[in-house]
Amino acid sequence: MATADVRGPEPVALSWRIRERPGLTTVEFVGEIDENADFVELRRRLRGAVAFQLGEVRRINSCGVREWVNFVRDLPHVTELSFSHCSPAIVTQLNMIYNFRGNARIRSFFAPYVCDRCGQEEEKLVDVTQTGGKHEIPQFACSQCGATMEFDDLPERYLSFLAEA
Ligand SMILES: [Zn+2]
Repeated sequence: MATADVRGPEPVALSWRIRERPGLTTVEFVGEIDENADFVELRRRLRGAVAFQLGEVRRINSCGVREWVNFVRDLPHVTELSFSHCSPAIVTQLNMIYNFRGNARIRSFFAPYVCDRCGQEEEKLVDVTQTGGKHEIPQFACSQCGATMEFDDLPERYLSFLAEA
């Protein structure tokens, strides 16, 4: 663990909040996944159907990717795994690292949009069922001016993880 008096723009250590309901355990991750991520306790605790919410994971470094891949591929008591609210950082990894998801189903993700009329930039939550494979993505109205926003990336790149979903 890092010392307490580190200053400057240090990474926000990864943490998570677990909510257990009958039939589903939800884990909401916050922070950055790096070499300090320690999933040992979490792995031991998770069982049954599990949903990971990943909207607040803003950065993942290469050591973090390794920790994560080792974590998700070895969840002995988990019967069903899903990822939702995947942040752009998570989507990037899903697109680059084929086993980043383990056996998880991707349910929803954030996508970058920009408004051509007023310049507003927003990340919109997209349900996978709203997409038509890797080339179609839903349209949204700008929260500032109401114009239709443009998807602010290459669909075939940003959505390539959907092809294998
Ligand atoms: Zn606008």
